[in-house]
Amino acid sequence: MDRQGVAQAGEIIKAGGLVAFPTETVYGLGGDALNPYSSQKIYAAKGRPSDNPLIVHIAEFEALSRIVREIPPTAVELARRYWPGPLTMIFYKADCVPLATTGGLDTVAVRMPSHQTARALIAAAGGYVAAPSANRSGRPSPTSARYVIEDLDGRVDMIVDGGETDIGLESTIIDLTLDKPVILRPGYITEEMLEEVLGSVDVDTAAVENSHKAPRAPGMKYRHYAPKGSLTIVEGEEEQVMAFVNRQLSFYREKGSKSGVIATDETAKRYQADSVKSLGKRQDEQQIARHLFRALREFDDEGVEVIFAEGFRQGGIGTAVMNRLLKAAGHHVIKL
Ligand code: AMP
Ligand code: MG
Repeated sequence: MDRQGVAQAGEIIKAGGLVAFPTETVYGLGGDALNPYSSQKIYAAKGRPSDNPLIVHIAEFEALSRIVREIPPTAVELARRYWPGPLTMIFYKADCVPLATTGGLDTVAVRMPSHQTARALIAAAGGYVAAPSANRSGRPSPTSARYVIEDLDGRVDMIVDGGETDIGLESTIIDLTLDKPVILRPGYITEEMLEEVLGSVDVDTAAVENSHKAPRAPGMKYRHYAPKGSLTIVEGEEEQVMAFVNRQLSFYREKGSKSGVIATDETAKRYQADSVKSLGKRQDEQQIARHLFRALREFDDEGVEVIFAEGFRQGGIGTAVMNRLLKAAGHHVIKL
């Protein structure tokens, strides 16, 4: 770790500036969470609607009590088990957290990341760093510094390069302000893992399905991660999916459209598209998760116009993968 660089980044944030930095999930765009002007700058840099609240990142559990009204026992248990790590919890906010940071809500989302550089930076910045994903609004979350530069060059004061992120999908969000805890966004920490601690949890269906209800995490209502090309998910038995997609591809080839496929190691060689991206071995869900956003960005760079994606198993981290993929596809799924 570049200690001097981290110290400098901390000073920038303390002075009201913005620093993009790596976490174990995706890159974050950090500013002082307790300074409303910093939060406004984050929204402006991302082009993010200001009703979409920011997650406050802390470096140690002891920092939590200052920014929330109360810490329910469930949060203590969850923190013991999954912090530091890719879990965000929602609490009632204390007065010191500006409404600019929470998108006008009286609740605040808090996470303690496990990434060493992230934690050192948060500590150097005074302990409270608001950090949404470091992409321009609507683009896939960045999984390497390269993509942060692509989206935010000239809009931030510093970018800390920590190589490729490990998980590659944003944190799981759980709301602890309700009678029963509710998952607002699926992620690496799965429903089953949360139930081990909490007994039973609900899932905000508006966030995971193509619903007309307003999701409880305001950000989940926006069409995220949309690639420039049209994306369709094709689900079914492997051979049938390949046959169907190849027929579609030959149709688009004749039309002269540039095509792409999101595949797995097992199937990639068998698609006749201009660009085929394997996310990894189908059984290796961690690898699939890590590579999804990169694939979507690469299709944009290559000017791919029509994209087909294989579906993935729901359950475990597959639920989070499918959640992101469905959003990217605007819920356009063909079931064979
Ligand atoms: P990002 O930081 O880009 O991963 O986005 C943060 C996500 O957390 C968005 O979907 C927000 O809507 C959600 N979020 C942040 N704070 C709250 C909150 N207080 N209540 C509900 N959702 C929240
Ligand atoms: Mg985001």
